[in-house]
Amino acid sequence: MRQGPARTLLTFLMIAMLIAGCKPGNEAPALTATQPQASAETLPPPMVHLATQSPTSPESQPTPNPSPAPAAGIQPAPGPRTHYELQVSMDYYSRYANVVQKISYTNTTGSEMSQIPLHVPPLYFPGAFNLGSLSTQPASTYRQQEQTIWLDLASPLSRDALLEIDVVFRLVMPNQAATFGATDQQTNLVNWYPYIPAYLAEKGFIMHAPVYDNTKQVYVGEYIVNDLADFDVSLSLSNRPELIEVAASAEAQGEPKSGKYRYHLEAARGFAFSISDSYFIHEVQEGAYTIRSYSFINHENAGTGEAILPIAAQAMRLFEDLLYPYQRDLISIVVADYLHNMEMDGMVMLSYGVFDFFDQTPKNNLTILTPHELSHQWFYSVVGNDQALEPWLDESIATYSELLYYERYHPDLVSWWWDQRVDVHNPSGYVNPSTENSGGYDAYRNGVYLQGARFLQELRGAMGDADFFAALKDYASAMAWKMGTRADFEASFARHSSTDLAPIYAKYFIP
Ligand SMILES: [Zn+2]
Repeated sequence: MRQGPARTLLTFLMIAMLIAGCKPGNEAPALTATQPQASAETLPPPMVHLATQSPTSPESQPTPNPSPAPAAGIQPAPGPRTHYELQVSMDYYSRYANVVQKISYTNTTGSEMSQIPLHVPPLYFPGAFNLGSLSTQPASTYRQQEQTIWLDLASPLSRDALLEIDVVFRLVMPNQAATFGATDQQTNLVNWYPYIPAYLAEKGFIMHAPVYDNTKQVYVGEYIVNDLADFDVSLSLSNRPELIEVAASAEAQGEPKSGKYRYHLEAARGFAFSISDSYFIHEVQEGAYTIRSYSFINHENAGTGEAILPIAAQAMRLFEDLLYPYQRDLISIVVADYLHNMEMDGMVMLSYGVFDFFDQTPKNNLTILTPHELSHQWFYSVVGNDQALEPWLDESIATYSELLYYERYHPDLVSWWWDQRVDVHNPSGYVNPSTENSGGYDAYRNGVYLQGARFLQELRGAMGDADFFAALKDYASAMAWKMGTRADFEASFARHSSTDLAPIYAKYFIP
């Protein structure tokens, strides 16, 4: 149960908020969990000092003064890509949305296709997805099989031919604190529309079911594998739009507080919204893009919504430096009114618990997890992977990115990070289970995330810093806009290694 702040404080804050043009939210409950305690041991120097903070410096070198050079870019994303037009009319306070969707899909599978699946994630929540109409051009019939609507085409779709799909549906937002759901102070639309899954010639369309850990009562990892797509999205808020702030995967076009917004996003894995009448917003310009935070009133009062921006800017500079420039003009960091953290394209969500416990020091979950989630803009967004079958490909690297952040900006806390983030859990298990065979949430985290970090550290130790970082950049560049696999990862690392890495793979990967 939520407890509001004291009435006098609330009154004062409401006045203050009216002045600031914002609306106060409810105070989030305190967590029973505590922050990890720092190790008392004396900390050794970092293995590599990534000394520069310059956004223009090249990839990491184990020298204290790398010469500045422009960051290497990547080629634009290839096409043709599926286009999603989504017109959303939402009543935030009644928690429903009417959606008119048009999907323009080009058959790039290389084969004639007589069946095309529309995977519909909201169908996992009873009553959430209500189909109004569905039609296609050229014609098809459709049938629902569990959470997938299969389109059976009257005549097969030729290679490179266009299929247009018109869907009208209503979302009734489930009452749940989750990436798809509504609470008293937040409505989240993540994986909220029918989509055509990524396709691999050898596997077909890639669809998985979510995996739930009944003991821990949490989902184990993620299950959706999106291809790159382009988005034109409009959002119309019908009820008191002047109170409502909208975080999204792209910058809004339209008058602020008008409730009428348009968005355009290219070469993205998905389009997400997080909508609230309780957000406080801060932003900073970082080179070519904006970093924006959305947080609740207690975070505003504690200064956390503002304090996260320089942490995020440091992390983004680090990844741009090690890999290549961020590919969008906005990254939004949104407080989640639920108890986990999640990456979307152009947006990340960090639990209110992480925000609540921020103490303005780097020995903190917010400082650990901000770089983690932001690194997914490279490993998940630009470099895709099958998050259900090979979740380590993004999660191991994201976890290791936390360490890279500490090495560069808080080298005195590197040992603390290993102690508190990894070693305290005494992790065992393999790096590369699927979500289904990982053995539940704890085993999944211990293997994929924590053993994953140890695995990458061991690779780095064997290769040396220069080759390791060259290989990481090679993998991120070679697989940009594609779906990376273990074979692609190993190929990149083999290209930069004079050492046989097979014993390390054998140690950490399922035989
Ligand atoms: Zn992650």
